Amino acid sequence: MENTIKDVVIGLEIHIQLTYLKTKLFCSCDSNYRNSLPNTHNCPICLGLPGTLPVINKEAVEFATRLALALNSKINSSTYFFRKNYFYCDLPKGFQISQYNKAGGRAFADGGQVTISLNNHKKEILLNRIHLEEDPARLVHKGSIATSPYTLIDYNRSGISLIEIVTEPVIQSPEEAREFLKRLKSIVQYTGISDLDLEGSVRVDANISIKGHERSEVKNINSFKEVERALRHEIIRQKNFLKRGKKLFQETRHWDDKRKVTLSLRTKEFEADYRYFPEQDLVPIEINSEFIQKVKESLPEMPKERTIRLIRQYVLSEFDAENLVLDKHIADFYEVGVNSDPTFGPNEFKQYCNWLMNDISGWLNEKSMTILQTKLQPKIVAELVTNIKEGNITTKIAKSFINDMMKGKSLVQIIKDKGKKRISDQKLLKNLALEVIEENSKIVEDCKRNLKAVEALIGKVMAKTHGQADPGITRRLMTKLLKEKRFIN
Ligand SMILES: [Zn+2]
Repeated sequence: MENTIKDVVIGLEIHIQLTYLKTKLFCSCDSNYRNSLPNTHNCPICLGLPGTLPVINKEAVEFATRLALALNSKINSSTYFFRKNYFYCDLPKGFQISQYNKAGGRAFADGGQVTISLNNHKKEILLNRIHLEEDPARLVHKGSIATSPYTLIDYNRSGISLIEIVTEPVIQSPEEAREFLKRLKSIVQYTGISDLDLEGSVRVDANISIKGHERSEVKNINSFKEVERALRHEIIRQKNFLKRGKKLFQETRHWDDKRKVTLSLRTKEFEADYRYFPEQDLVPIEINSEFIQKVKESLPEMPKERTIRLIRQYVLSEFDAENLVLDKHIADFYEVGVNSDPTFGPNEFKQYCNWLMNDISGWLNEKSMTILQTKLQPKIVAELVTNIKEGNITTKIAKSFINDMMKGKSLVQIIKDKGKKRISDQKLLKNLALEVIEENSKIVEDCKRNLKAVEALIGKVMAKTHGQADPGITRRLMTKLLKEKRFIN
């Protein structure tokens, strides 16, 4: 029987590095290991040497609290760490210090949700729990993990603070997963706990099944962008498997992001294999309501609330407001910009939003840059909107200004450099149009049979003015002249 997309069940486990912490989770090693030589950010604790004692990083607890509050999760007042035992070279002490919500343990926080919008439809993606744990070392393979002749290990990442977010199995398509991760990334940005644009700052494991069949777990998808692709691949693989009448079995698969396929690593290990037991070397984490209140007060306005305020304050559509708030820096930029000109009203608020979300965001995407990495000033975009409104420049010319604007040039300077003021002088344009008619008798003849030839004549006027002629006036004048001369009706 053919399965529809509704039969798909997806649950995600997202691991986020707390990149804004100065030190690792249980030792004082510098957590900013990126661009460092391998195995230079280490001490006996994060190398797992015998006899060492871990000490919890207080700020990591605060960061976890920030995220839990932003996700509406219920923070547990007392939790402790567990040892998750497994034997692998990425954690030489033979276990990972993590949290566990069974065997008397509790997650750092339970529940929570993220609202997504997809095809004009809203949905709550429910969370199961979030918890704190340490990152294992980074393994480096030559080429693909399956064919690499050796493995290199970099312990710089060992002991970095991770937050794991586990969703309920409520995601029904790769698109829903994509939207959820987009919103989650935004929330993480607002809480200020991590820069998820940093390479390796996020890893996702996905549990995927077709209803009524065994699930597979796809491990180590190394970017949010890859998740949708990996899910798509795995769903098709499972459906094809069932179509051939085969039985799916529970297994762990690896996402090979070079070949864009999932590969079987091993049949799934079960929880009992990890022999979880309490980590006796660490005291329990106690969190009281005053601490939670203090953290709550330090949080900025979250994307959901900001969306509602932007709709009200700037008369924006829900779609525009939701897209604006997604990146906190873009939303901050917008608010500074539209408030830089007290004459701005709903029309300018909308125009400003369009420039930011279309041309400027397009430029940023193309260059893989964030708005903070450019020299663009919020006020310049406001000036651009004003100049178009007052008819000093056309939208088309304004578009050609973007590149210079991003490099910090003022509008006055760009207009001066390019000399691209719009030409709307009727007398001048009429003379140019007459010139074009005289010089292009063949095209003028064509106009009798094919009206499209008029466009070519308008184009010639635009060319003579280096694109500065007002297209509306030029069209009107050209049509009028051709009619007078009875080349068109
Ligand atoms: Zn260390």
